Amino acid sequence: RAKSSLHLHHEYFIAEMEDSPRRRLEIIRQLREDFDAGKLALWYQPQVALDSGEIVGIETLARWPQADGEGFVHPPSVFIPLAEYSGLIVDIGEWVVVEACAAFARLRELGLAPRHIAVNVSMPQFRSPHFSTLISETLARHALPAGALELEITESVAMDEPKIVANTLRALKRAGARIAIDDFGTGYSSLNHLRELPIDCLKIDRSFIDEIGADTSGGEAMQEAKGTTRGGMFAETIIALGRKLGIATVAEGVETAAQAEFVRAQGGTIGQGYFFARPMPFAALVDWLAARRAD
Ligand code: C2E
Ligand code: MG
Ligand code: MG
Ligand code: MG
Repeated sequence: RAKSSLHLHHEYFIAEMEDSPRRRLEIIRQLREDFDAGKLALWYQPQVALDSGEIVGIETLARWPQADGEGFVHPPSVFIPLAEYSGLIVDIGEWVVVEACAAFARLRELGLAPRHIAVNVSMPQFRSPHFSTLISETLARHALPAGALELEITESVAMDEPKIVANTLRALKRAGARIAIDDFGTGYSSLNHLRELPIDCLKIDRSFIDEIGADTSGGEAMQEAKGTTRGGMFAETIIALGRKLGIATVAEGVETAAQAEFVRAQGGTIGQGYFFARPMPFAALVDWLAARRAD
């Protein structure tokens, strides 16, 4: 009992620290310093075609490693929002695009490249008028074909200011990018608006994949009896929507064979998650792709 109240107190203290403005500014200062010193890293997670098992894409994920190489200073869920808040995300985001395209070009040289590499894009980057120029110049520098770079934009960004977003997305498409809507289903999409946007892919939020086959014992049956079961219903609906719109669907956070099979049976095209592979550094990705090719 004493231990758990100590634990609670500790959690509370951490939450307080992260929340205090001084603590936030300190993290931002440290992030800027480490970013300028070239200490941020990119990790990569494969995306797998559910019917053939072919690797179709790779998502790029930012990491903030500790100096001793033992762990991470903070996870993206902490430092990305602070980078957005401080404006630092524009420089970080540019580095991510440049670095991801260079990594993809290297995979092409090695004969290990899938169809595309994806990067996450935040609102402030999306708003920058230079962003589409950065995309076209970076693709050109590495002689990458149109569609080699996928931009993941969250649903809330995509649904903000419909006219501006539609125009920006069209400019990005002209620059050669593919467009994916990330965390789909967690925001407030107008389906009518969605139809107007030049979207190539919907990424089904992990929370909906979590609901698939989570409990095959009593829990789900009891929920079902009460008529409140949701097991996979949202995933199923989003997959059907993707099919109607004629675009790919990526299931995020696939952790079990049952989830992969459910999504595949519903007609979902691509899976991403620990079941296939965790995010990994570039050297590990090269080994993973090479081993996979050898099979
Ligand atoms: P996201 O774009 O939705 O990325 C997917 C997240 O799910 C990643 O978390 C990934 O490591 C995690 N994930 C993948 N498969 C599984 C699984 O099977 N189970 C579980 N539990 N998790 C899985 P991560 O890397 O911590 O990134 C969190 C979020 O931070 C990302 O969510 C994205 O919104 C943001 N982020 C990461 N890197 C960048 C970046 O370079 N730029 C921007 N703007 N945002 C980024
Ligand atoms: Mg993403
Ligand atoms: Mg996501
Ligand atoms: Mg996200």
